[in-house]
Amino acid sequence: MVSTNIDVIVIGSGIGGLVAGAMLAYYGKKVIICESHTIPGGAAHSFSRQGFHFDSGPSFYCGLADPHSLNPLQKVLNILGESIQTVVYDPLGHYHFPEGSLPIYGDGSSYLEAVAKFTTQGAKELKLFQDNLLRLYAGLKEVPPIALRADFWLIPILLGKYGLSLLKMLPSLGDIGGSVGQIMDKWVKDPWVRRLIDLECFLLSGLKADGTVAPEVAFMFGERSNSVIEYPIGGSGAIVNALVRGLERWGGELLLNAHVEQILIESGKVVGIRLRGDEIIEAHIVISNATIWDTYTKLLRPEDLPASFREPALATPTVESFMHLHLGIRSDGLEGLTGHHVVVLDGDVDISTPGNTCMISIPSVWDSTLAPPGHHVVHAYTLESFSGWEKDESYPQRKREKAESLFRALEKVIPDIRQRITLELIGTPLTHARFLRRYQGTYGPAIAAGKGSFPGPQTPISGLYRVGDSTMPGIGVPAVAASGVICANTLVSVDKSLALLGSRE
Ligand SMILES: Cc1cc2nc3c(=O)[nH]c(=O)nc-3n(C[C@H](O)[C@H](O)[C@H](O)COP(=O)(O)OP(=O)(O)OC[C@H]3O[C@@H](n4cnc5c(N)ncnc54)[C@H](O)[C@@H]3O)c2cc1C
Repeated sequence: MVSTNIDVIVIGSGIGGLVAGAMLAYYGKKVIICESHTIPGGAAHSFSRQGFHFDSGPSFYCGLADPHSLNPLQKVLNILGESIQTVVYDPLGHYHFPEGSLPIYGDGSSYLEAVAKFTTQGAKELKLFQDNLLRLYAGLKEVPPIALRADFWLIPILLGKYGLSLLKMLPSLGDIGGSVGQIMDKWVKDPWVRRLIDLECFLLSGLKADGTVAPEVAFMFGERSNSVIEYPIGGSGAIVNALVRGLERWGGELLLNAHVEQILIESGKVVGIRLRGDEIIEAHIVISNATIWDTYTKLLRPEDLPASFREPALATPTVESFMHLHLGIRSDGLEGLTGHHVVVLDGDVDISTPGNTCMISIPSVWDSTLAPPGHHVVHAYTLESFSGWEKDESYPQRKREKAESLFRALEKVIPDIRQRITLELIGTPLTHARFLRRYQGTYGPAIAAGKGSFPGPQTPISGLYRVGDSTMPGIGVPAVAASGVICANTLVSVDKSLALLGSRE
């Protein structure tokens, strides 16, 4: 039985939807979140098979439990009265190139020392590049993300409360709107370091340095060195569970297995949603955590949006989808194993070519409860185009062939990996699209720096808002948490959102 008198319906329980819903519940709104799946969390959900507990997506985190971090997720959990336990570790991971492996330390000088073993001149240039980004981070750090909103009130808040801090950012203003590529071109000539910077950007945004906005990477470098690198005990699902507890603690409701078929619009205004099975829930505010493409094609009728808005929105370019490998393996003899690896298989092939750069996460090295005794859980993934994938008779064979690059990458870290497997799950872009309910299984919008910007939470329809990785500030767990905060703050009075700054922020 669904509650009545709902103020806000959130479609989807990704991190963006959960943060928006939980914050609005905290602000006193009657919130219901409808999630299509039986497990909440979207790209960040955890799932279990035969005693192995897997992350479906994210596993690189900074500042989840550190009160000094800039991570909006940490601030939100704190405000909701929740917290999560984490394991702090360093280095963040090892990047394996054909010519050798580089440990990626959070601390800037250890990072530069490791780079100097490959190129001393490159390390000097990287330092200049890094200094610029850290200066930008120092400016960004002054404005807590929990204060952000997406309406007229943002400007008086920024000027009134943070005017002096903003003045300090003046020397970095040129970098705020620019790409990482522009900063790199200014300071770095060394080709080895240029590829490293491209790789760091690609891992974050799905785009190389020339397409990635500078504040995103400034935030990453800054948090890596100023806060802590950590992994949540219980996996990414522990973050999701904490947000769900926070939502419920403040009176919000989460409906699982509740697929929304349509957002109901009357006279240009939101009036509610229709669930699969024809149940209708009424509310004057609906927040969609589905992607921009899913929201504007599957959840609305074409006539609900002006064509001049709908067409360019749907033309937003996409980052590719993924091949995934989730493995349960025997862990005997792997005592020195570390948890994160990025393998570039062929140094002569572009890092962004699907299959060439493979990400590996073995989180049971930090949290042994994720695997049965004597075993590890492994998640490996690489970009893969959605086009051409069909569930025809060649699907099982094609799936196996495409997973081969992931196995080859894993062999760089665990040479006898194939002999250790006790559970093997191969996922394709079709699996990704289906389990994450995402258009073409995309990682998110490919909005390159200088070629557009991520839209805010508002839409042309009165009462309809959006959160998640196809809204500002973009892709990644901290970013989508920020999108949830921005949307929630925009829906309440300035006094309410500003009160957070004096409380547990
Ligand atoms: C493989 C992979 C690795 C990643 N690694 C990292 C990392 O290490 N660190 C990091 O910070 N980020 C990482 N990311 C990015 C990060 O996970 C995502 O940007 C973020 O989790 C997306 O959150 P979201 O709120 O946009 O929504 P999503 O996670 O897309 O969730 C949307 C939710 O809406 C639901 N939904 C959709 N349509 C409907 C409907 N009609 N009715 C009801 N529910 C619906 C979906 O089922 C889903 O639960 C990774 C992503 C992937 C895919």
